[in-house]
Amino acid sequence: MKSKNIGINTICTHIGEVEDKQFKGAVSPLYMSSSYAYEDVDVKRYPRYFNTPNQEALCKKIAMLEKSEAGLIFGSGMAAVSTTMLAFLHKGDHVVLPQTLYGGTYNFVVEEFHKFGIEYSFAEGFSEADFSEKIQKNTKVIFVETPSNPLMRITDLEMISRIAKQRGIVTMIDNTFASPVNQTPADFGIDIMIHSATKYMGGHSDILAGAVAASEEHIKIIWNLAKNLGGSLSDYTVWLLERSMKTMVLRVKAQNMNAKKMAKWLDKHPLVEKVYYPGLKSHPDHELAKKQMNGYTGMLSFEINESLNVGDFLKALKMIKPSMSLAGVESTILSPAKTSHALLSAEERKRQNISDGLLRFSVGIEETEDIIADLEEAFQKVSKMEKI
Ligand SMILES: *Cc1c(COP(=O)(O)O)cnc(C)c1O
Repeated sequence: MKSKNIGINTICTHIGEVEDKQFKGAVSPLYMSSSYAYEDVDVKRYPRYFNTPNQEALCKKIAMLEKSEAGLIFGSGMAAVSTTMLAFLHKGDHVVLPQTLYGGTYNFVVEEFHKFGIEYSFAEGFSEADFSEKIQKNTKVIFVETPSNPLMRITDLEMISRIAKQRGIVTMIDNTFASPVNQTPADFGIDIMIHSATKYMGGHSDILAGAVAASEEHIKIIWNLAKNLGGSLSDYTVWLLERSMKTMVLRVKAQNMNAKKMAKWLDKHPLVEKVYYPGLKSHPDHELAKKQMNGYTGMLSFEINESLNVGDFLKALKMIKPSMSLAGVESTILSPAKTSHALLSAEERKRQNISDGLLRFSVGIEETEDIIADLEEAFQKVSKMEKI
């Protein structure tokens, strides 16, 4: 299969698969060796060189999904983020990032960059002016994350690649929330796509992994550092991830559909103040999302009425689990004020529109009616409690 026009479901099911020459089995055999022959071979293989048969197979799949020449997979999303940024940022260089950033990435920047002499600025909003005004003479990288967490704001990828290319700046995106199903940043000229494969790529809340896709030239630069830092993924997990990705499109499309229905249902609910979902016309970035995304994702946030106690509401849910992570086939929910944004001051949370009643909802693949029933029961139970 060499055609450039292979459909996304076919890429997920087949691309990269390792042929089982011995037994002709249907799936890629799992090669667990950490030791390979070095004589009379084309490639010197070693798991930390990111080139075992299973690693190479999965990289091909991820590269094609992101319309890129090459890919690399890592032991975690943060290994992918940190290795990729450090590969392109040297002492004296500068990077522009959005203020609204995944917590782990934010911590990596503010806790580690000063040790390497790397400078950084945070764009306060998502507009061209917000990013442009932070660019300096020594800016080497613009890093974006869209949709943002937890308010699902959208950054214009065409704009980012335009302002970067004018100045020879490399662009990187954390494409985790969208997944390769809902957004193909390469179509808009973004150079490097990064994923926490722990989320939609894995999709079953049982794998920790990261992935990067880019041109061969850029992947070579990342690989040169990656082999020294050593954040590679074990072959067993690589194999599990390959299996998970075969159903990624089916899962993500079901999650998109459920999330859209849930956003509309929540939007009409008398005990819900506000819903943040790019698929709703009321979302400030709806038009932009429509232009650059293939689907609005399975992620949304909503604010419950301030008369309700958030902790009681979460406890009243029976099926939907409170959970730190996201994007699994099961619906999960999280209070940003109590978890991801707990370390910010109350004032800073307010400035970022993260109210105490805000809940980030990762919509799963369960029947929509069952998700609605669970939420409605919790709303009723908690609103009665408040009246007592
Ligand atoms: C989870 C996540 C990461 C970090 O990934 P890990 O696999 O936990 O290391 C990075 N970016 C985003 C947007 C995430 O949701």
